[in-house]
Amino acid sequence: MRCRTRSTVAVGLVTTALLASGTLVGSAAPPGGPADQPPAWSTALDRAQAGDEAFVAATSQCSETPRELPVHEFTDHRELGVELDRIERVSDGAVDVEQVGRSNRGREIWSARVGTGDTVVLLTSEIHGNEKVGTDALVDLLEWVGTSGSRKARQWREELTIVAIPKMNPDGAELDRRGNDQTWAEVTARHPQLRGSEPSWNYYARSLQGDDYTQRPGFDTNRDYHPDLSYVPQPEDLPGSSAGTGWYLTPEASTVRDVYRGLQAEFGEVDTYVDLHHQGACYVMPDDPDEFVTLSISGQFVADPATKPGYEQYADDYDLDYSKQLNVAVDRALQAAALRRPLFGNVTLYPQGIDLPGTGLGSFALNGSGTVLFEVRGQTQTLGQQQRAALTRSVFIGLDGMLTAVASGAVEQIDPAEYDRIPPRGPNVGVGEEEDARVLRQAGVPLD
Ligand SMILES: [Zn+2]
Repeated sequence: MRCRTRSTVAVGLVTTALLASGTLVGSAAPPGGPADQPPAWSTALDRAQAGDEAFVAATSQCSETPRELPVHEFTDHRELGVELDRIERVSDGAVDVEQVGRSNRGREIWSARVGTGDTVVLLTSEIHGNEKVGTDALVDLLEWVGTSGSRKARQWREELTIVAIPKMNPDGAELDRRGNDQTWAEVTARHPQLRGSEPSWNYYARSLQGDDYTQRPGFDTNRDYHPDLSYVPQPEDLPGSSAGTGWYLTPEASTVRDVYRGLQAEFGEVDTYVDLHHQGACYVMPDDPDEFVTLSISGQFVADPATKPGYEQYADDYDLDYSKQLNVAVDRALQAAALRRPLFGNVTLYPQGIDLPGTGLGSFALNGSGTVLFEVRGQTQTLGQQQRAALTRSVFIGLDGMLTAVASGAVEQIDPAEYDRIPPRGPNVGVGEEEDARVLRQAGVPLD
C-alpha cells in the first residue's frame, strides 16, 4: 500500500531519475536532493527494464491480452436513456436531460444539465467504447447532485452549471470497442469536399486490441477534435497524424464541440472540462510492483501554445496552472478516501509532456478550459467488469473533490506545484500484450 507522507525530497529524486531515463519526458524536475540515495520510486521501473526475473515472476499474473469478458453490469445505451429519464423525474427537473445529437448509427447522444451557477463544468465519458466506468460514475453523480438536500449539493447547484455527456460514443460502446464504426464512405457522404481524399490516420481498418476493424472499420473519435471550433474539414489536412489536429469528421466529436460552443456563447467560457477514460490493467505503483494503479490523472495534453508556432492565438487563454489545481483537488479527495480503502490512494500522474491537440482535452485546453483526464484501471477487453463498483466509486470520489473545490473557490488556493509531486505511473507489468498495441505504442500513439 502506498503511503502519501513522503518527503518532497524523495519525490524530487525520483522525478530526476525518471527524467534521466527518458521516461517522464517534458516534466520539470524539482531541484535539489542528495545524489547518494537510491531513487525509491523508480525501483519497479528499474527492475522491469532490467528484466529482473523475480520481479517479472511476481507480477506475471496480470494480463493485457485482449479477451471476451462479460460487461453486462455496465450501463448500456438503452439503460442510459432509462436512467437519465428517471433522474430527470426524481430530481423534479433539477437535472435537465436533452438529446444534443445522434451518433453515426443514429443513437441518441444525451446531455444532462444541473445547476444554475456561472461556472461551467463539462464532463464526458466513454469516448472510447471499451472504457465504461465513467458513464456509471456520471449517472451516480447526476442522481446525487440532482436529489440531495445537503449543503454541499446546494452549493454545487448554486455555484456551478454541470453539463454531462455520458457515453458520447454510443456506437463504439455498444460494440464494446475503442472506435465507432463509421465508414470512410459515410464520412465523404457527410463531407463531399473530402471525396477522393485518403482517410484520416485515425481511421482503423485493421485488427486492434482484440477487435476486428477489417470487417467493421471506424474512427478513434478522440483524435477528431480541432482547437478551432469552427474548423471545416479540408482535403489538404488529410491524413494528418497523431501529433496534429483533428477534423470533426465524426458526429460524436462534432456533437461535443457544438455543446462546448453553446456553453461558450452562453457563459463566455467553459471553466472546466473532464474526460473519463481507462488505461491498461497492469500498471503498477512506481514504488510497489504489487499495487496496481487505480487511477492516473493529468492536466497536461498540449505543448504550451506560447512556444509552439501556429498556436500563438491560444496562448492567452491556455491555463496549465488551473488544470494542475483541478487535478490536485481530485488527488486530495482520493487520498482522503484511501484512509477507508487503500485502493483509492493508488493514484498516479499520467505521462506528461504529451502534445495531442486533436484530443477533446487538448482542443478545449487551448480554448481556455481547465482540463482533467481520468484513466481508470483496465479496459473491458482485459478487466471486463471486475472491480466495477470500486472503480466507479474512485471516479465519483475524484469528481466530488474537484467539483466541491470549484464550487467553493478552494481550488484557487491550491499550489499548482503540488501536482508535480503526484507520483508518476509505474511500469505496465502485463504479459501477453497484443502485438498491434505494442507497435502503436512504439510509434508514439497512446492507446489509453
Ligand atoms: Zn480512452
